[in-house]
Amino acid sequence: MIAPGETVGILGGGQLGRMLAMAAARLGYRCHVFAPESDSIAAEVCAQHTCADWTDLAAMATFAADCAVITYEFENVPVAPLKALGDVPLLPGLRALEVAQDRLNEKRFVAQLGGTTAPFHLVDTAEDLDLALIEVGSPGILKTRRDGYDGKGQWRIMVDHDADAVRIADIPLIYEGFVHFFAEFSVIMCRGGDGAVVFWDSAENTHNVGILDRSVVPASQAVQAQVSAARDLAAKAANALDYVGVLTLEFFATDAGPVFNEMAPRVHNSGHWTVEGALTSQFENHIRAICGLPLGATALTSAHVEMRNLIGDAAEDWDTLLADPANHLHLYGKVAARPGRKMGHVTRLGW
Ligand code: AMP
Repeated sequence: MIAPGETVGILGGGQLGRMLAMAAARLGYRCHVFAPESDSIAAEVCAQHTCADWTDLAAMATFAADCAVITYEFENVPVAPLKALGDVPLLPGLRALEVAQDRLNEKRFVAQLGGTTAPFHLVDTAEDLDLALIEVGSPGILKTRRDGYDGKGQWRIMVDHDADAVRIADIPLIYEGFVHFFAEFSVIMCRGGDGAVVFWDSAENTHNVGILDRSVVPASQAVQAQVSAARDLAAKAANALDYVGVLTLEFFATDAGPVFNEMAPRVHNSGHWTVEGALTSQFENHIRAICGLPLGATALTSAHVEMRNLIGDAAEDWDTLLADPANHLHLYGKVAARPGRKMGHVTRLGW
């Protein structure tokens, strides 16, 4: 067990790191963020910030020497430099990062566990794309295999000749068949080092241009009917990875059952509602798990919970939002509101 007062290292300096650090502070831990940006919004609420490039091995080793355990708040942390962390435990482990960093690995991993994914085909060349269109067909979505988030690095191909406009550069891609879903939902679970597992209620998620717009709990009956199969898959994934911490799997709810979309080896935007809406939040349970503490209960604190992201200029409504006492406002401290940038979120509890 990591004792209160010791230091938790966080790789990555965004809002997820900020909320993890706030949860860690409540349990008496100090946090030390490693993030290349000098204006990290996680570092603002942490005891220490190592501001260095991901490839700076000396800085990585000095950072690790200060930490009792290290975690990550985003899955695109380069894996190779992490060897400089030495013997300090990295939780969740490297294998989870390697799987989740690449959409192809992720889909193969899930398919091996018996999960259903969209039909997919690897695309490295223009010929691969022709083959993918023959095998998978259109409509479909061409996605970068690595570094994509919030719908970035995606091209929709509604009919085959849309593909003519796509120039295949040197980036590994994956082509996915379009899934006809009636809803999207996520399974968020936490696994302790002793193998104990908790799940939060699954939120029904709606996206706007690829970015999460809102998460609602409870999900509709039709979605709830698919949660148990989706949880089974998530638990299998966590066991196979000997996972410690919060793990998120996103699903499409279809007439034929849940179809896996992607996984995140971390706390997730569709779990932000758990701060007020569950007895223990995703952030607190993640810290508990990586520090070897017992996991907290995840039951709902109210009958209806809704989380809405404040994106771009929408964040400027904050004074109106605060006027309604049912709203719990979270602003991430980002200075510049750019279109599509997540500036904060608001959670509403209802009865
Ligand atoms: P992703 O970054 O892969 O999660 O994609 C962002 C959003 O695009 C998803 O939440 C879906 O709304 C949509 N999307 C992604 N992949 C597919 C697919 N294969 N079929 C239908 N919609 C998709």
